[in-house]
Amino acid sequence: MKFSSLGLAPEILQALDACGYKKMTPVQEKAMVPARRGKDLYVHAQTGTGKTAAFALPVLQQIIDKGQVNTDESTKSPQALILTPTRELAEQLAKTIGAYAQFLPFSITALYGGVKMGGQANKLKAGVDILISTPGRLIEHLASNNVSLAKVEYVVLDEADRMLDMGFITDVTNIIEHTAKKHQTLLFSATTTPAMNELSHKILKSHQEIRVSKINTTAETVEHVMYPVEEVRKIDLFMDLLEEYNWFQILVFTSTKRQADTLLETLKKSKIKAGLCHGDKSQGSRRRALADFKSAKLQVLVATEVAARGLDIEGLDFVLNYNLPYLAEDYVHRIGRTGRAGKSGHAISFVSREEERAVNRIQRLIGGEIKRIYRRGYEVGERSTLRKAIAQKPKSRRSNKASETKINRGQIIAAKPKHKKTNKFKGSGKKR
Ligand code: AMP
Repeated sequence: MKFSSLGLAPEILQALDACGYKKMTPVQEKAMVPARRGKDLYVHAQTGTGKTAAFALPVLQQIIDKGQVNTDESTKSPQALILTPTRELAEQLAKTIGAYAQFLPFSITALYGGVKMGGQANKLKAGVDILISTPGRLIEHLASNNVSLAKVEYVVLDEADRMLDMGFITDVTNIIEHTAKKHQTLLFSATTTPAMNELSHKILKSHQEIRVSKINTTAETVEHVMYPVEEVRKIDLFMDLLEEYNWFQILVFTSTKRQADTLLETLKKSKIKAGLCHGDKSQGSRRRALADFKSAKLQVLVATEVAARGLDIEGLDFVLNYNLPYLAEDYVHRIGRTGRAGKSGHAISFVSREEERAVNRIQRLIGGEIKRIYRRGYEVGERSTLRKAIAQKPKSRRSNKASETKINRGQIIAAKPKHKKTNKFKGSGKKR
């Protein structure tokens, strides 16, 4: 289905053209018509499905349809509010929606924690039409009377399941109470949980439910493999595999900031260009790391779950779960960055003995078994064998290479060319 069939404003069609969008993605096909008619929606869609346009375009169009486009900056007050769990996601949404509204006189602002309130307060004072925010920071601005949400007629909860996980539920419901009495709510979630369903009943009115793929499944184009390995040997295994397959580029998830730091240090010692994205890093440094990764200056981006949530990194070939996430749903989120838009991707997981239980949960969720690769020299065995293995750490990392021939890994990883320096990341292109 083409966007032109929706009767969108010429400015929006022109922007979509500039973004290079030819036809709608499935979530856009299903959600845009009812959203534009003003219906409340509960949309089950994974990251990377094009959901931003699915909610942003109907909102922009409705503001135009109702003649509510306000060109007088001094009297602007937010008409649409998009709540999202992380700073990165907020910035990304501002950029993406900014691209959709590039030919319209809308002012779009993103608010998030970790930066001073003053600058954001000034932006709010200057006038905003579309407000994007993390819940915590918006509560602070509301408490300081920096913003009024009284004219907000469109509320979008993006990655609502994540906001629940992060404990934002009370903030979210409080914020909604500040919006106009009559408002449309669009609820987006990648996973379906009882808590999410409860929230949907609480905040949606006679809503329509939309699913674009099986609930709680990962993109079908992703190949999943896992390496059983002892926790303490994960670094060696990673360095080994990286040397052997030269993955370019790979996003690595660790569970903790400390693991992320240690991994980065090891990578830097081996002169591998790597960046870090976690909560202890300043906003600027996270932004720089992400930009460098997107522009292919970095081979590896090491990130923790929360910091990397929803990052718009498109067409990524490899995602590594250095640790398995505790929540199976987070596995789905993490690998949402690979195998997008019909491209194939590879989700690689390192699984320690302790993480085997998580494997079962993940397999149940994605409805399939993950292929195991047993790499010689990294067998998970008795503690005594493990101690011996660590003591006799191979001198040459390549020495483990032959061990995988028994397992037919097909084209999964081995076929990657060395350092293919093409930039596959849409976010770094001119258009965005
Ligand atoms: P999202 O799920 O909104 O984060 O979108 C994921 C990626 O798909 C982003 O890079 C969008 O720019 C891109 N995208 C969204 N809709 C379309 C479309 N109709 N055609 C091509 N790319 C799209």
